[in-house]
Amino acid sequence: MYCMKETILYVVVPCYNEEACLKETSRLLKNKLASLVKTGVISKNSKIVFVDDGSKDATWKIIEGLDGPIVGVKLAHNRGHQNALLAGLMYAKERADAIISMDADLQDDIEAMDKFLQKFREENCEIVYGVRSERKTDTAFKRNTALAFYKIMRKLGAETVYNHADYRLMSKRALDELSGYQEVNLFLRGIIPTIGLKTAEVKYVRNERFAGESKYPLKKMMGFAWDGITSFSVKPIRIILAVGIIVSVISLLVLLYALIVNMLGQAVSGWTFIICSIWLLGGIQMFSIGLIGEYVGKIYAETKRRPRYIIEKIVERNKPL
Ligand code: UDP
Ligand code: MG
Repeated sequence: MYCMKETILYVVVPCYNEEACLKETSRLLKNKLASLVKTGVISKNSKIVFVDDGSKDATWKIIEGLDGPIVGVKLAHNRGHQNALLAGLMYAKERADAIISMDADLQDDIEAMDKFLQKFREENCEIVYGVRSERKTDTAFKRNTALAFYKIMRKLGAETVYNHADYRLMSKRALDELSGYQEVNLFLRGIIPTIGLKTAEVKYVRNERFAGESKYPLKKMMGFAWDGITSFSVKPIRIILAVGIIVSVISLLVLLYALIVNMLGQAVSGWTFIICSIWLLGGIQMFSIGLIGEYVGKIYAETKRRPRYIIEKIVERNKPL
């Protein structure tokens, strides 16, 4: 009979002030894992990892009181969603074959996990992205700002998966590669696509938050977007450089114009000199800032110490000559 090894699955859930959701989330996750164990998909040693991201409410108390296959990881301080998630992922990768990350608020459809695991087990995918098929439950404002963000990111040259948040499955292998990324400004959605390896997407419908309110108010969301852009792209610097060049070119036109005005005798004495200097100097200054920025951008890329390559496979044929 065809029999596949059961996968040890760890589900990682970052939690910040989630006292209102946690019990329900853990109940549903436990049920889900139990049914996956029953059908022989995952191993009995699978677990749920709740990472408390320095919550100020009863979150940690609730985690400590949960029973079942549960691990609690408590961060000493609020470090933000991405860092909390990374802490959980790095803990889990030492113990699991596959790791699914999801939010604590049950917005991500738990039932999509079956398909995640199917892609992992049957198609050998190392990374499976959960992609929202629609965003009906988000407010129009959140939906539009989020979509604009994905578009800007793409224009600026960072690879992101459209409409994918942090609901995804990663294999131990993919997480080992991720641990090679040493950067402090963490934007997982941008980093993970740069790993490569075999990937797949699974569509799901995003629900409304089960309880409590979003831990991403506008200010945090903008900070997140800004981090995403500045961590992945030196294009803003290039824009300065380009503007500098354009202004320098315009200064030549201004020079021409000023000379004509001067020749026609309509200029106040000294005006030609001043107006030409302003444009030329402005252009040169912007160009210089952009040039310095290029070096700063290179230094920035160096300090991140990202892996320069990731080998997917090596094939060696040992046939004797
Ligand atoms: N979260 C976190 N640390 C933070 C902010 C949020 O761990 O500083 C967690 C939060 O508990 C949730 C997930 O990140 O599990 C996503 O947050 P939320 O659902 O509030 O974001 P939204 O879905 O509104 O974008
Ligand atoms: Mg949410």
